Amino acid sequence: MNADEIAAYNPDVVVVGAGNAALCAAISAHEAGARVLVLEAAPMEDAGGNSHYTGGAFRFAYAGVEDLKKVCPELTDAELENIDFGSYTEDQFFDDMFELTEYRTDPELCELLVRSSLDTAVWIASQGVKLQPGLGRQAYKVDGKFKFWGGLALHIWGGGAELLRALNENIARRGIRVVYEAPAVELIQDGDSVTGVIARVGGRSVRIEAGAVILACGGFESNPEMRARYLGPGWDVAKVRGTRFNMGAGLTMALAAGARPHGNWSGCHAVAWDVNAPPFGDLTIGDQFQKHNYPFGIMVNARGERYLDEGANFHSHTYAKYGGEILKQPGMFAWQVFDSKVTHLLRGEYRISRVTKAEAQTLEELAEKLEGVDPQGFLKTVHEFNAACQTDVPFNPNVRDGRGTKGLAIDKSNWANPLDTPPFHAYQVTTGITFTFGGLKVTTDAAVESLYGGTIPGLYAAGEIVGGLFFNNYASGTGLMSGATFGRLAGAHAAAHAARRQPATQRAAHAG
Ligand SMILES: Cc1cc2nc3c(=O)[nH]c(=O)nc-3n(C[C@H](O)[C@H](O)[C@H](O)COP(=O)(O)OP(=O)(O)OC[C@H]3O[C@@H](n4cnc5c(N)ncnc54)[C@H](O)[C@@H]3O)c2cc1C
Repeated sequence: MNADEIAAYNPDVVVVGAGNAALCAAISAHEAGARVLVLEAAPMEDAGGNSHYTGGAFRFAYAGVEDLKKVCPELTDAELENIDFGSYTEDQFFDDMFELTEYRTDPELCELLVRSSLDTAVWIASQGVKLQPGLGRQAYKVDGKFKFWGGLALHIWGGGAELLRALNENIARRGIRVVYEAPAVELIQDGDSVTGVIARVGGRSVRIEAGAVILACGGFESNPEMRARYLGPGWDVAKVRGTRFNMGAGLTMALAAGARPHGNWSGCHAVAWDVNAPPFGDLTIGDQFQKHNYPFGIMVNARGERYLDEGANFHSHTYAKYGGEILKQPGMFAWQVFDSKVTHLLRGEYRISRVTKAEAQTLEELAEKLEGVDPQGFLKTVHEFNAACQTDVPFNPNVRDGRGTKGLAIDKSNWANPLDTPPFHAYQVTTGITFTFGGLKVTTDAAVESLYGGTIPGLYAAGEIVGGLFFNNYASGTGLMSGATFGRLAGAHAAAHAARRQPATQRAAHAG
């Protein structure tokens, strides 16, 4: 579509962004009868935002395999026999959200997220998105059987690429138009209401009038100026794990229109990320620059010292906040160190060709290979660590096994194995930011609230741009679930708002 066609399109609902939240919103608005236009800042090949980079972890509550079969009817009897999926109740999901956010998560939004999570998973599967058991990521084989821990039984098959393919195919079947290289830059307002959006298309500003606007265009993680401003010094030089297009434009537009900020604006999701990864994500690598298996080893900084409890909990409970701890270390890097006893437990991301790795047959040799690290400091750390491991407690990767260290300045709480079996291997990581936690305040209808009370009529939001769910930390697999939940809601309510605003005769004229 060219600029003139876009200006004349007259949609009921404009969706800003083309990631998971946006496409779910567009589908839902269309299901509710709206004529929908999607605006995406990126060119087609880079479209889909952070959703494109995901491994596809998808968190929802389930009582047992019957619920899983509703989401994934393809589960075979053999899979059901050989895998212990357990259950992940709504209460467990709440507990994780409360514990991880230190009880700061917005109670209304959290309740909505958790209680509708199974239904949302069934809905997204009904839209053509396939899911599969997350073996190897969330379950280890013990006594010949995979056992799930931590509540992430199903992942989106094929990760972000397949998620977006399925959603985009759905969008195309519905005849929803997506315009690429069309960043929204400003909201159009009529009094208190939002009545459209201005986008830049082919060097022109295009006014797109609409019944309602849904902002689903991510946080400000790609924008170094906003990172430094809100997250603090040092965050401007962090590597970005995903898209380069989430510049905070949606947040800036909404705040300028009187939207109410909400949540943890100085907080973000950040992980251990290969020190030599490019400044932004690389779709050929996806999420594989991440290094999530530190609970099975130790992490040391430039002084050769451990600086946190690697085994405080499963990685899915610590990885999103531990990335930011690397930023505080001298030189902004750390090395994750393992011995051969746990090599088989390390995920595929440790075996990619673009990995910054050192390997040695002795600890002394390894110490010399850890670039930037004081070798003597490192050897002292390892010897003290090895001596402190409570090896009489059995090691079990599927539970918090309590096999900790005793007497160290920073003890390791679980999965503490002495580093004593060569070859030793180590991986150099830095901070990789995933997404920002601060965002807009929305109602349980995904309507954007205004600064001084009430909502801004015609304005809805979904996905990363929604604030209030996550504080300091995050439960893995919740980003996609949040995008789908609030996207679906935003689509339905934006369509209803547009229908109320536009006379039926005018809508009929647009049909088709
Ligand atoms: C490497 C990586 C791995 C991850 N793994 C997982 C996982 O396994 N499970 C999970 O739940 N979460 C995961 N996440 C987090 C997850 O990706 C996000 O929480 C989620 O995808 C956000 O969806 P969204 O639709 O809100 O934003 P995005 O998917 O980022 O989409 C935002 C869209 O808006 C567009 N846009 C930005 N500005 C404008 C503008 N002005 N006008 C028009 N368009 C604009 C962008 O180009 C983009 O297409 C991962 C993230 C990364 C980076």
